[in-house]
Amino acid sequence: MPTSTRPDLLLPAEPGQRALARELYAQVAQLPIISPHGHVDPTLLAEDQPFPDPSQLLIVPDHYVTRMLLSQGIPPGELGVPSRDGSPVETDGRRIWRRFADHWHLFRGTPSRLWLEQTFTEVFGVHTRLTPGTADEVYDALAARLAEPGFRPRALFERFNIEVLATTESPLDDLGRHAKLAADGWGGPGGRVVTTFRPDNVVDLDFEGWSTSVDRLGEITGEDTGTYPGYLAALRARRAAFIAAGATSSDHGHPTALTLDLGADAATLFDRARRGTAEPGDAEAFRAHMLLEFARMSLDDGLVMQLHPGAVRNHNRWLHARHGRDVGGDIPQVTEYVHALGPLLDAYGNDPRLRVVLYTLDEDTFTRELAPLAGGYAALLLGAPWWFLDSPEVLRRFRESVTETAGFYNTAGFVDDTRAFCSIPVRHDVARRIDAGFLARLVAEHRLPLDEAAETMVDLAYRLPKRVFKFGEES
Ligand SMILES: [Zn+2]
Repeated sequence: MPTSTRPDLLLPAEPGQRALARELYAQVAQLPIISPHGHVDPTLLAEDQPFPDPSQLLIVPDHYVTRMLLSQGIPPGELGVPSRDGSPVETDGRRIWRRFADHWHLFRGTPSRLWLEQTFTEVFGVHTRLTPGTADEVYDALAARLAEPGFRPRALFERFNIEVLATTESPLDDLGRHAKLAADGWGGPGGRVVTTFRPDNVVDLDFEGWSTSVDRLGEITGEDTGTYPGYLAALRARRAAFIAAGATSSDHGHPTALTLDLGADAATLFDRARRGTAEPGDAEAFRAHMLLEFARMSLDDGLVMQLHPGAVRNHNRWLHARHGRDVGGDIPQVTEYVHALGPLLDAYGNDPRLRVVLYTLDEDTFTRELAPLAGGYAALLLGAPWWFLDSPEVLRRFRESVTETAGFYNTAGFVDDTRAFCSIPVRHDVARRIDAGFLARLVAEHRLPLDEAAETMVDLAYRLPKRVFKFGEES
């Protein structure tokens, strides 16, 4: 689903490079989308119900949008973001949309503006320019599209040309929605929609309700999660269930990249935490130790590990208290990898059977730490710019920062990491255009012949993510 209305969107402004970039982009514009990491609700595709109104689809769940409006004094409740205590929030889609349109200028120069505009035009075919004065016209046009059968989730999935989409579930998820997808021919191993094993809520002592979640993990698996060996056995059992539902990777969202091998102390720490007598530092040590345990499990069961460190979750405490997690209250922090990953790399860094994809929210680490690490350890791959860095400028800086040390082939390909299903093709298209521009410069500077640049384009857009995340036979 290539872009039609702005064919040179994000391509270099210099005419020589632009011509080369057009040629390179044309190689990949129609290629299927591999989406190995994201947070689309699998219910969407399992049940294939029509999407709700445009605001419930595009505004309410988009924390990039609601956080910007909050930063200008518009509380999330006025944008329909549900409250934790059930206190009333705006539910009228049109009123939410008008409020958003009144503040559309706040998004000038941001990727949110680009993603939304491209979603309006390329996904929904709505070309009216959004202004406060056209809010109703755009809303009505989008709502009319959403009522058409061609705009149901599965129809859009086909139109978006998605080959595989990974969602993310906790080990406590019963994977019922993925079972439904498998029964309909959409899921299961090698399927179009697969899950990802995300154990943070049963690993992170700081996670709300950790101990209760570990109890639940025991109930689900029949293992005694009152003991550390039982806890590990339960995690292994859930990994096996996730693999049976198509998972090829795990995902670990930690405040830092710290890894540790606690040895026998791990069980002591676990017991302490289960008794509710955890000491300061236990949560960080246990998260760090569990990364080594998960690396060991990955060596056995083959799941690719993704490490997403560096977010201070729920930094905006008022927002968290009022609206819960994942609504825009997280802030990146300085993240160190070289020493933090030492224990993991000492143990398994040179073992090519292990595959760890590293992400960052700290752009400073691309050149100094991550490119040298990914360019020097067989087990490491460099993940795509993520979250606050998932923007045209940083995607470009990413290639400029890491390619000379890590090359292209120690990177893992683009990851959209999105909850917003309708933005998936747009986000992949943006990444493809930026890569085309970067490679066009290498060609223009006589650093790479055009045919090799074209091959690299296809690798970055399609072959690499497919291989790295073990989708398809060539893993
Ligand atoms: Zn994610």
